[in-house]
Amino acid sequence: MQQPQCDFCGAALVFGSSWRFACDDFSITKPDGGVQEYAEDWSACPPCKDLIVAGERDELAQRAARSVIQSAPVGVPFEFAVQSAREIQDGFWSNRSGSPRLDTKEEFEAPIRRGGYRSR
Ligand SMILES: [Zn+2]
Repeated sequence: MQQPQCDFCGAALVFGSSWRFACDDFSITKPDGGVQEYAEDWSACPPCKDLIVAGERDELAQRAARSVIQSAPVGVPFEFAVQSAREIQDGFWSNRSGSPRLDTKEEFEAPIRRGGYRSR
């Protein structure tokens, strides 16, 4: 089984505290004309879930950016990382619906199908 990760900050998820937000599929057009698709519900660790429920968009984007910077092989400017995270999360904020709920065992163990990238 693939280790499930938070779709926002990348933290490893633990069954029993893995939250799920319903979200319609959406896509983002990149500057080069390619299209990144985002499919299915979004998983969240407890801290990210709390930020989302509280509507803390800025803090959520900064949290994601810190995680990107930590795992990046080369230096990434913080503001750039925040901007990138915000672009993706704006799609989430616009397409999410309802209240979060905890993953069922089946959902937690299901393979992640996030969507793909189509170049122009
Ligand atoms: Zn998280």
